[in-house]
Amino acid sequence: MAVRQWPQADYEEVTCCRCGISGQLLFTQRRFGIVQCPQCHLVFTSPRLKKEAIRNIYEASSYFDEGVYGFSKQINLGMLLQRAWTRGRLDLIRGLVKGDPHTKKMLEIGCAYGLFLQAARHQGFEVAGVEYSNTAVQWSAEHLGLPVQQGELKDAQLPSQRFDVICFWDVLEHVDNPVAFLKLVHQYLVPGGIVVFSTPYVNSLPARLLHSRWWTLRPEQHLWHFTPHTLGLLFADAGMHLEQVIADPLAPANIGRLDSLVGVVRVVACHAG
Ligand SMILES: [Zn+2]
Repeated sequence: MAVRQWPQADYEEVTCCRCGISGQLLFTQRRFGIVQCPQCHLVFTSPRLKKEAIRNIYEASSYFDEGVYGFSKQINLGMLLQRAWTRGRLDLIRGLVKGDPHTKKMLEIGCAYGLFLQAARHQGFEVAGVEYSNTAVQWSAEHLGLPVQQGELKDAQLPSQRFDVICFWDVLEHVDNPVAFLKLVHQYLVPGGIVVFSTPYVNSLPARLLHSRWWTLRPEQHLWHFTPHTLGLLFADAGMHLEQVIADPLAPANIGRLDSLVGVVRVVACHAG
């Protein structure tokens, strides 16, 4: 695949979403900088692409077409893995959510072509989705009849104000501002609600060994590069607790992933007074 280039005007410098200060350069990749906040150690991309330039990446019909997120007619490794993760993650969620799934509401943010939501609905969850790509929203509505809102979470008109489970698979590293995003997620959770998510992590062995050649670095679309520690800080900022990190590539929810983790998060209990 050819390496894409963008005009200089498409780039912007950003500060740490937690501390509001500039990062220190770790290394560069093309015009992108991979920097680290000197205060909280969060790693992020700066300069990064502006929002409008990134939007064009997601709207390209090729974005989900590798069979990983879609329903390619050809069986390929990506699709098999996606199906394995779906099974493993639903089993994980079923173990965390007490009671009958038919009484539980689930929201997936960044639900792509709806494969995971379809499987969750099949298990009884009342599902809703939010997805940035118009192409994917139309597909999941037409082919699966899924209630998916196009756009970002902050603009969504959701069928419910509160959910028992909110999932986002490989989304957090893409969002403009994770602190603002997670605070909004918190507002959509019932008391005792859970978040289950996945994301690449920058202190994984492949990331540490390969630096700028790490295959999941993708600085044109991955704006934030987490560790379990910085994820814990971000969720805490939003009033939630990162309770469990599954980084084992043999765990069903994370099968085959050497550089990504699955996290389980709970709302921190509010004490009156
Ligand atoms: Zn910081």
